[in-house]
Amino acid sequence: MQKKSENHRANRALPTNGVDWLHNPIFNKGTAFTEAERDALGLRGLLPPHVQSMDEQVQRVMNNFRSKSSDLERYIQLVALQDRNETLFYRVVMDYLEEMMPIIYTPTVGKACQEFGHIFRRSRGFYISSNDKGQMEKMLHHWPTRDVKVIVVTDGERILGLGDLGASGMGIPIGKLSLYTACAGIHPTQCLPITIDVGTDNETLLKDPLYTGLRQRRIRGEAYDALIEEFMVAVEKNFPGVLVQFEDFGNSNAFRLLARYQDQACTFNDDIQGTGSVALAGVLSALHLTRGKLSDQRVLFLGAGEAGIGIAENIVNVLVGAGLTPAEARKRCWFVDSKGLIVKSRTDLSAHKQHYAHDHAPCTDLLSAVKSIKPTMLIGVSGQPKTFTQEIVKIMGSLNERPVIFALSNPTSKAECTAEEAYTWTEGRAVFASGSPFAPVTIAGKTHVPGQGNNAYIFPGVGLGIVSTGARRVTESMFIAAARTLASLIRKEELAEGRVYPSLKRIHEVSLAIAIAVAEEVYAKNLNTQPRPADLPSYIRSQMFKPEYPDYVKK
Ligand code: NAD
Repeated sequence: MQKKSENHRANRALPTNGVDWLHNPIFNKGTAFTEAERDALGLRGLLPPHVQSMDEQVQRVMNNFRSKSSDLERYIQLVALQDRNETLFYRVVMDYLEEMMPIIYTPTVGKACQEFGHIFRRSRGFYISSNDKGQMEKMLHHWPTRDVKVIVVTDGERILGLGDLGASGMGIPIGKLSLYTACAGIHPTQCLPITIDVGTDNETLLKDPLYTGLRQRRIRGEAYDALIEEFMVAVEKNFPGVLVQFEDFGNSNAFRLLARYQDQACTFNDDIQGTGSVALAGVLSALHLTRGKLSDQRVLFLGAGEAGIGIAENIVNVLVGAGLTPAEARKRCWFVDSKGLIVKSRTDLSAHKQHYAHDHAPCTDLLSAVKSIKPTMLIGVSGQPKTFTQEIVKIMGSLNERPVIFALSNPTSKAECTAEEAYTWTEGRAVFASGSPFAPVTIAGKTHVPGQGNNAYIFPGVGLGIVSTGARRVTESMFIAAARTLASLIRKEELAEGRVYPSLKRIHEVSLAIAIAVAEEVYAKNLNTQPRPADLPSYIRSQMFKPEYPDYVKK
């Protein structure tokens, strides 16, 4: 029998009979259990006689996957596989990542969250509700292992660009953690998806008999803060040093909670900091194509929420690093929110917007702001589809030889413009990236490959760097290091196609490089709790999960 310490399955008790081996997704090999294993583990008779190779199993999964009639069906198929056989699930997702990413993450995961109660099969992850107040530390003992390294938590208030989906938002932490494993090899058993259900203000869900969450309006204010505080204490007690990623919280809670916990716990907010980092990498790559300097840019954001402010803060940090004062650096970033251009004379600005309120006459809409500010880069993070109109994109094209246009709102239906629109309206001159994937576009015989500003380029590698060093905190400088590393990895031939990000096919190389850069930051700031290994790259590589079946019975 295999020694328990030999792989990531080590922290789980071995099944005790044949049926349990088949029903435990961590240990199950399905039809790939060998003859020897069938004899030793009590499996003979419980499986069809032919022993399949893993390659044959992958082929079967892919045949089924490609024969489904909708992406939601594909999502359901993959979730069922994950529940049945985790090793095979990750082998498929890792081997076919470009095909799988839009299913296990945006845009399909958004649809899955909207339909969550209706497609629900089997519970995955951990639910804490406001009814559990006072019990969190104890109830987390129900999770089957103490060896948890990464938690992704949501309260479901701002799922992608889809708004408040309450407890149905659970698809997001599950999907993000699948990407931690698929992109950076964080062991699946060390990942814990959590939803904190404080209610929902979504009327449709409140009236839906199949909704899986609490039927109450959202708790806010002090009662909400007390729940989050109890949660942070409870996870640290149960899983000391665990990395906690906040995901898809509503705007005001997201900024407040980040400010409150980033110096107290090992935590970050992906919507603010991960987005800031991946978009900064896109901006730095775009400058290779436009041959511009960051300090010469005028960046206009549509949307001044978590994503927009997160991106601007990173641009400002880089400019300050290059010698500008914070005030000078912020002048390079302009914002239009739902009320128009953010300017000094406005009296309705929240704290995070006030830093970016410049002296300028009011503009009530994006078109007049574009005409007046004359941006070199236009970045959409508003969740408002079709707002980069033909007129606006054409003006960007007349102002700039290579206008930089990032339509980052998710899912695809919320994008500010499509790749085809951006390229067509600028005669193929736009440097374009989006939040959800778009297919390449051919104009006058030249094919343009749009970049997908997918946070999955950043957070898995950052997480691997944090986990490998046992970092005590997550700092802004780690996200800047991650962005610079990502931008440095893009190849000349990828840039020539118009890409501002490397191909997703290279994601393991990208995540490893980011993990090394983040680890260097951790050591530089003395935030590590584990000694530095002699050969850092080899050590981090050795930590990465591989989707391979072990031999449970040694010959
Ligand atoms: P948020 O709710 O924090 O912010 C949305 C902002 O848009 C707010 O400032 C709001 O005032 C503004 N807004 C709303 N309606 C507007 C209008 N008509 N005109 C101008 N501004 C308007 O949300 P967020 O976290 O910043 O996310 C925004 C969008 O960005 C979402 O669609 C999300 O999916 C997307 N996003 C993409 C990525 C990525 O591509 N990597 C990452 C994170 C978020």
